[in-house]
Amino acid sequence: MIVHVPPVLMYHQVDEKPQSTPIARVLTVTPSQFSSELDYLAAHHRRAVGVRDYLDALAAHRPTNDMVIVTFDDGYADQYTRAFRILRQHHDRATFFITTGNVGKINHLTWRDIGIMARAGMSFGGHSVEHIDLSQLTKAEQSQQIAGSLAALRAHLGTRPVVYAYPAGAFNRMTETLLAQQHVELGFTTDPQFEIGDLRRYEIPRIRVEGGMPLDAFGAALATPPARRYALRALPLQPPQRLQARQLTQPQP
Ligand SMILES: [Zn+2]
Repeated sequence: MIVHVPPVLMYHQVDEKPQSTPIARVLTVTPSQFSSELDYLAAHHRRAVGVRDYLDALAAHRPTNDMVIVTFDDGYADQYTRAFRILRQHHDRATFFITTGNVGKINHLTWRDIGIMARAGMSFGGHSVEHIDLSQLTKAEQSQQIAGSLAALRAHLGTRPVVYAYPAGAFNRMTETLLAQQHVELGFTTDPQFEIGDLRRYEIPRIRVEGGMPLDAFGAALATPPARRYALRALPLQPPQRLQARQLTQPQP
């Protein structure tokens, strides 16, 4: 089966306060920026969805060509107080990748927040227990980070998460093996090397939406994501292997 992979947007924080460090400024969008970007998607007939919505559409053989997958990393508190509120105002959805060891800590989501968001249709995926670079860990350590975060989400949400995002985008072949053992369907990176060539199930690239990004730059990033130009073979889940991708013959919206 050939399936279409929509562009995947990556956000971190939504906050109107000026950020004090350069990295925080890049990772933080204002509520008005986020709202404008959702308006932009709607104006261009694109649906903002979570990964769960995408996988459900694939399973039901519904079209995915009008989808844009919205993701948030790290489980910051403003993802409930701001991002979730704005998503609901727009009738949109997103997936939140949670560093489970930080849930309930200062400036982070609580399990209560996550439960409310889940009941409203938001979906969740693993983002390790302690936000550690998986590629630097032993197999046992990686396994603990991956399985631990997925188990915590399952325990609190009652459903098994099937998606994972790598802290700092870093992973290795062992990561892919461990994700397959945990029945994870898709893994998301930020490493630009995966924006070209064949797509692999556990190497889905994402578009980083930066604080202060002009709307025309946002539109340009959406229009040219390499993932959009490829189709991904071999869903549903199979063991890790080179997934043969090829250029779509039909232009995608
Ligand atoms: Zn992260």
